Amino acid sequence: MTDLLDLARDRANSFLKELPDRHVGPRATRDELVAALKVPLTDDGEDPAAVIDALVQGADRGLIACAGPRYFGFVIGGSLPVALAADWLTSAWDQNAGIYVTSPAASVVEDVAREWLLELFDLPRTASVGFVTGGQMANFTALAAARHGVLRRVGWNVEENGLTGAPPVHLVVSAASHITIHSSMRMLGFGTRALRKVDADEQGRMRADSLRELLRTLDGPVIVCAQAGNVNSGAVDPLRALAEIAHEHDAWLHVDGAFGLWGRATASKRALLDGCELADSWANDAHKWLNVPYDSGIVIVRDSASHRASMTVTAEYLEQTTGVERDNFEWAPEFSRRARGFPIYAALRALGRNGVAALIDGCCDRARQFADILSRDKRVSILNDIVLNQVLVRFGDSDELTREVITRVQREGTCWLAGTTWQGEAAMRISVSNWSTTAEDVEKSAAAILRMLEG
Ligand SMILES: *Cc1c(COP(=O)(O)O)cnc(C)c1O
Repeated sequence: MTDLLDLARDRANSFLKELPDRHVGPRATRDELVAALKVPLTDDGEDPAAVIDALVQGADRGLIACAGPRYFGFVIGGSLPVALAADWLTSAWDQNAGIYVTSPAASVVEDVAREWLLELFDLPRTASVGFVTGGQMANFTALAAARHGVLRRVGWNVEENGLTGAPPVHLVVSAASHITIHSSMRMLGFGTRALRKVDADEQGRMRADSLRELLRTLDGPVIVCAQAGNVNSGAVDPLRALAEIAHEHDAWLHVDGAFGLWGRATASKRALLDGCELADSWANDAHKWLNVPYDSGIVIVRDSASHRASMTVTAEYLEQTTGVERDNFEWAPEFSRRARGFPIYAALRALGRNGVAALIDGCCDRARQFADILSRDKRVSILNDIVLNQVLVRFGDSDELTREVITRVQREGTCWLAGTTWQGEAAMRISVSNWSTTAEDVEKSAAAILRMLEG
């Protein structure tokens, strides 16, 4: 066991040492990867050390340097060294974090991380927190709690009765909602046809006046999904106004803050996320901006009773605790699962309040730096207000040229970023969410982008 883990550590360290200078995109085609990795499954297995080495060699050219400092695609984030170290231990410990008795340490660590997160986000300290696989499941869990909450108010127990014959629930989303809101609604049995879309402004923020108008026409239970951090522009919905309107109508307000919620942890973004604390549930990712390894999402629910009712199950063999102890499964869709609280705990403890704020502010500063450098070139337009870590760039006011520059940049390898469509036009999308990205990385990457613009 020790030799094998030393081998893995050695290979991991080599990868991490090379990471900042690695070609950021993939270097092999699918065919090449298949040729390297597809071997016949043997009857008797192979030597474990040889398997690890073969895996490292076979995977290498198909690995993306997304944990490195010049990956700006999507909002991916890397891994803080302390979070990675805690994650290695999490695997070595192999705890089942489902219930208290299968890992008292995992349970207590999640209790502690819960308190720290509520303080950092400045959300109601009595809210419940679940540790899930990512933003998708955080949205799903929050909306399951919402489904319970709004239907209970009209006397319907959805966990017992299901949705057949239930009073109809009005589902209100922003035109700019993340697709995982839609898939969550699907998994919750609502379907997507029922979604009522509220239009968004030029930055991708839900329009409060349009929400007010729509809610006036709706009767019965309502769930409203707002957003803190648009995946393209980084824009944050006018949360205070939305919360006031939603609550006038007794609606449940959910905020998808997969990355944007981290803005709550820094004074510089206070105003942007003002009123966020008035919502009823929040979804967040730790594997994005907190820079912990996958899989790590966070769901927070004001009404912990609705949260628990939507997730908990009972069985005689589970009644092992006094009730003070946290059984993690009560707050997440999974039962047995990875003890993903350890890396979050380690990251927060190592960073402290100021460290978290500096991580968020640093990425936002780098995003602004990108916009400043690129916009000095007359052929470049910046399409969004830089409020967080997202920059949308367009070249020569041309879809074709914009897409061409993105392709060239991806191929060149200094950095990696992807394209998107913004207000009907092609755009390059830059997301800065890695703890290790420096001002020099941005200079180098911006220079590479401008070089690729030359052809
Ligand atoms: C990334 C993201 C999600 C989905 O999160 P996953 O961790 O990929 O499941 C949901 N909403 C927003 C706004 C996001 O940025």
